[in-house]
Amino acid sequence: TMSQRKVGVALLGLGNYSTHLLAPALQATRFCELRGIVTGSPEKIPKWQRRYGIPDANVYSYDTMHRLADNPDIDVVYVVTPTSLHLKYAERAASAGKHVWCEKPMAMTEAECQRMIDVCNKNHVQLAIGYRMQHEPNTRAMANYAQTSPFGTITSVSSFAGYPGNGLPADNWRMQKDMGGGALYDMGVYPINGARFLTGMNSVAVTGRFEKSHPEIFTQVDETTYFTLEFANGLIADCGTSVVRGFNHLQVDCESGWYRLAPMQSYSGVTATTSSGKRLAPIKGMQQTLQMDNDAQAILGQGPILVPGEEGLADIRLVQAIFKAAESGRRVAL
Ligand code: NDP
Repeated sequence: TMSQRKVGVALLGLGNYSTHLLAPALQATRFCELRGIVTGSPEKIPKWQRRYGIPDANVYSYDTMHRLADNPDIDVVYVVTPTSLHLKYAERAASAGKHVWCEKPMAMTEAECQRMIDVCNKNHVQLAIGYRMQHEPNTRAMANYAQTSPFGTITSVSSFAGYPGNGLPADNWRMQKDMGGGALYDMGVYPINGARFLTGMNSVAVTGRFEKSHPEIFTQVDETTYFTLEFANGLIADCGTSVVRGFNHLQVDCESGWYRLAPMQSYSGVTATTSSGKRLAPIKGMQQTLQMDNDAQAILGQGPILVPGEEGLADIRLVQAIFKAAESGRRVAL
């Protein structure tokens, strides 16, 4: 029998998300194999090699990763570093001829996102952004309602994601503005992407407002940010994000009913309910397993790229506009 070809994955940046979510999720995939690592921390290497059977030849640093070009074991590099470094390492991976999976938020600016798209196109490699919710079946079912309109026209959207973290040490990248820290970059892309995904529309204008309950801790970055997304037909999504407040829902109100995801972006437990009493129970298994299998199938020519670079760019464009709106107190048109 012919065995299914698998996509060789190298994780780049072995922090919390790679260690506790992506590497375990890779073990359950059908179309992926964790074959390599790229890290700036030599002390992490032996543990990863032991746990996942990674040979010396598939271990790289950020400075040696150009040699990936000579390694046919690795098909894709998954960039899982602080946000400000996504573009740099995506460029190195693409230049070595490797497909790029890049974590959210895609990059710091719209221009950086465009450069990432361009360098992947130039090197004829695929680019997928790590928005795991777009692979989650209950979320996909609710997104499909934008086409089938079971409750009539959408009248309003409420999209909120935050977690009650209350701050990290000042030297953590999530507390630093130029590294991509703060609520809007880290968490805000969930309500933004969720509202866009469930309406199937792009926003034409935004407003924004900052709230700070711990100014002594959040000296550089936003802590809680409320914003609205205005769509072309006048529809408004009321949104918020926070690294202090715990909110986690995405509700779509329509002419004759509503549907809702709550929690809307947790690693597990995502549940869909509707005004007609329908309930889609949380899936079994990990969202990241579904995500990486979908992205691997795209590389294998067996399916579309569900979340291409343009998705990450559209969200960062809105992040930048929301900052402008919150800083000026004005509505910002796109
Ligand atoms: P961590 O801080 O835990 O890990 C980041 C890793 O990046 C580090 O361990 C390090 O790995 C590497 N790195 C390279 N350069 C630097 C640097 N200058 N400063 C700090 N770290 C550096 O972050 P997370 O794992 O939580 O987040 C990483 C990315 O994943 C972010 O973009 C984040 O938004 C995204 N993420 C996505 C989630 C999702 O659900 N989709 C959930 C959580 C995070 P090494 O030592 O190997 O070089």
